[in-house]
Amino acid sequence: MTQAEQGNFSIEFFPPKTPEGAEKLRVVRAKLAELRPKYFSVTFGAGGSTQQGTLETVLEIRAAGLEAAPHISCMGSSRERLRTILNEYKAHGIKRIVALRGDLPSGYGAGSSSDELRYANELVEFIRAETGDWFRIEVAAYPEMHPQAKSPQDDLKRFASKIKAGANAAITQYFYNADAYFRFVDDAAKLGVTAPIVAGIMPITNYSQLMRFSDMCGAEIPRWVRTKLASFGDDSEAIRAFGLDVVTGLCERLLAGGAPGLHFYTLNQAVATTAIWKRLNLTV
Ligand code: FAD
Repeated sequence: MTQAEQGNFSIEFFPPKTPEGAEKLRVVRAKLAELRPKYFSVTFGAGGSTQQGTLETVLEIRAAGLEAAPHISCMGSSRERLRTILNEYKAHGIKRIVALRGDLPSGYGAGSSSDELRYANELVEFIRAETGDWFRIEVAAYPEMHPQAKSPQDDLKRFASKIKAGANAAITQYFYNADAYFRFVDDAAKLGVTAPIVAGIMPITNYSQLMRFSDMCGAEIPRWVRTKLASFGDDSEAIRAFGLDVVTGLCERLLAGGAPGLHFYTLNQAVATTAIWKRLNLTV
């Protein structure tokens, strides 16, 4: 068994929105399957968008003989709708799920009906109540704090409550500061969290896209990394080479410091994840 299969090394996709996107993802998936990750996960659009695409993409991955985990989010979905989705996943023999609160697309409205679960810990409780131990459940963690949290301490407590509700493991939001991760893991352990906290990794390939995503999700780009990336201007080759060095170095530090695995946010691209994975020598 390779290190990637033994540890928690996983790869994330989003469901393609067009037939061309689906065809491209098939090629990307075949390339990334050569790395032999433990599983592929597929995101889920809160409030209805792309939800059928999540299941279709997961089923395609499984039909290729690979393990796949759909994400599920509670925001914008009634309990009845969640129950239907869970039963559908179960009927297909899916045993692994990533449980999130979700973010509603802008313009969707707050729409919190009394039937709706408000937070991910409630969703984990609901999944356990509905399906017992059928699913292995992963939840989200935020070493640099969730952007809507009251405080880092409050966010950490909320995180611990998801594990106590029955989650088996966590995947972090991406970050470029290894110390934030190590501190978060230590602080979580003090609250009794022993579940693995897998580090979420966003390869760096495009400066403006990275800045946009990071503004939205609250991930900090260290000043020296930002300045250097900005200095490359349109030189995408220099951005990719520098990004590869920075992110591989981060992964090395995380693994050396005891991170139980890595989860790659691929944005449905194969090249950068493959390059990092190979430099880390994970498929040996
Ligand atoms: P929660 O854990 O519920 O936390 C949300 C916020 O509420 C935090 O600020 C927390 O501190 C606070 N909070 C929690 N419980 C309480 C409480 N009881 N009272 C008061 N405050 C509370 N989004 C999608 O839409 N689809 C996806 O597929 C998806 N996949 C993701 C995968 C990963 C690995 C990660 C890290 C994120 C993903 N997201 C996805 C984004 C995620 O949905 C957002 O970050 C969302 O804003 C929070 O989700 P959560 O599950 O962390 O929420």
